[in-house]
Amino acid sequence: MKRLFKSLVILSAAAAVLGLTGMSLAQEAAKSVADLPVRYEELTSPDFIQAVLKSGGTCVIPVGILEKHGPHLPLGTDLLDCRELSLRAAAKEYTIVFPQYFFGQIFEAKHQPGTVAYSVHLMLDLLQETCDELARNGIKKIILVNGHGGNDQFLQYFCQTQLAAKKDYAVYLYDPSDDTSVADALKKMRKTTLDGHAGEEETSSMLAHRPDLVHMDRANDQSGEDQKRLAGLKHAYTGIWWYASQPNHYRGYGAAGTKELGETMFNLESGVLAEMIRSVKADTKTLELQKMFFEGSDKPLETKQKK
Ligand SMILES: [Zn+2]
Repeated sequence: MKRLFKSLVILSAAAAVLGLTGMSLAQEAAKSVADLPVRYEELTSPDFIQAVLKSGGTCVIPVGILEKHGPHLPLGTDLLDCRELSLRAAAKEYTIVFPQYFFGQIFEAKHQPGTVAYSVHLMLDLLQETCDELARNGIKKIILVNGHGGNDQFLQYFCQTQLAAKKDYAVYLYDPSDDTSVADALKKMRKTTLDGHAGEEETSSMLAHRPDLVHMDRANDQSGEDQKRLAGLKHAYTGIWWYASQPNHYRGYGAAGTKELGETMFNLESGVLAEMIRSVKADTKTLELQKMFFEGSDKPLETKQKK
């Protein structure tokens, strides 16, 4: 923010030299900064410089997927939802929001029409190169906002891999805690308990911002019940667990969704995400610790072993 203020002072001084009314030019510049789009793809190249300054060098990448969402919601539901959430949060706390990013983990839905499942290395490389390119453009704090449950472990693993090689930027994964007042408020509004994919919550969020894509009359065309086909397996994790439980790629009851629940979710959660963005902007410790870690990694034998 300091640097932004400085550029306005320079603009005023330049206007004075040119014999223009300094204030009006400064006001003009301030206005154009205030009006900067949050959507990356809508910024002009010169405006991008201002957006990087205004955002404190942050950019949110909403990460979605192309997969079936029950019989009644569109393939892109997760990205449509988490991009909407990111845009609403960015309206509260300015940041740049990256364009549609559909390149996550979705092997478990390859049996359903419309799924696009990229290979393991491509997923990791594409996200890394996207982050590298953002950092090359001055965005040193990259925020991942995940809209898809199947991406959870992939994105956490991606964050862990950021320590594999030296870099001058940090990746932050939005990870809201479960025990917030937000979770309590939503629990009170909910009608169903079984949920997780195209059920009450996702149907509600789509009803809140894209009702034209929701086909409520088809929500009961298939079962979203947990089919418990691996109930005999104890203390074990296997990649086929989701298919075993939800072969229709549907978990919950979409028919229970309401626009009101969706609006409440967006209002509350965009506040939580805005709070996260604010804390990332203020954070200097992560990059400082990363730097210290990378320096230590170059010469591990010099790392102190006694107090
Ligand atoms: Zn979903």
